[in-house]
Amino acid sequence: MEISIDTAIKLVLLETGRTNTELLPIRRKLSFHSIYLELIKSDTTKTVASNLGLSDDIIEKITSRTLYPLFPEKPKGIKWSAWLLSLIDYKKCQTCSRLLSRVEHYGSSSITWDKYAYRCKECKALDRKNFTINNPLYNSNTYALHKSEYVARAVKYNTQRSKATPPWANTKVLKAIYDNAEEDHVDHIIPLQGESVCGLHVETNLQYLSPLENIRKSNKFIPDWDAKI
Ligand SMILES: [Zn+2]
Repeated sequence: MEISIDTAIKLVLLETGRTNTELLPIRRKLSFHSIYLELIKSDTTKTVASNLGLSDDIIEKITSRTLYPLFPEKPKGIKWSAWLLSLIDYKKCQTCSRLLSRVEHYGSSSITWDKYAYRCKECKALDRKNFTINNPLYNSNTYALHKSEYVARAVKYNTQRSKATPPWANTKVLKAIYDNAEEDHVDHIIPLQGESVCGLHVETNLQYLSPLENIRKSNKFIPDWDAKI
């Protein structure tokens, strides 16, 4: 089921035992309704501050003094929008941006924090269909024609991968990620042989990508050091 942002806020307020008009103890002009609404709508706390006409410092105080104590179980690094929606078992699809029920619309994932895929099943299926239409030669015939090239590339890749695997890597978890990939590619978020940085072969550096996304990404990595959550 898909829900509107208004319904999502109502459900979050209900789930957290707040009323529509209840005000934040730290900022009496601001209601829980407005802060939840902005947090779910926006991807960064900077946008939340600007939409509410508040300074970054005030938003920082609101999250650290009011919201974090309310949700001590929220994993660090998880966006507030994702966390609030998870409380009502919903998730925003990273591709189509719809707010969809996690159980109905998302496949499972062993590498996301909530164990649900980052995009909905419909978007995943559409991406796969578009890939097949745009890449009609991407099949076993292509492999047969270029077998020696593929084998040489695989040997080179395996060597790079073993060099990038630290002694403390959890090989069981790494194997499970590859076993659960189905038709997706297992991608190194920071490539093992990137242009500017080289990543490690560890589970925190892995993500699933569809064949189309994998081709789009290639070996590029754009560091997002300033990303705010
Ligand atoms: Zn979607």
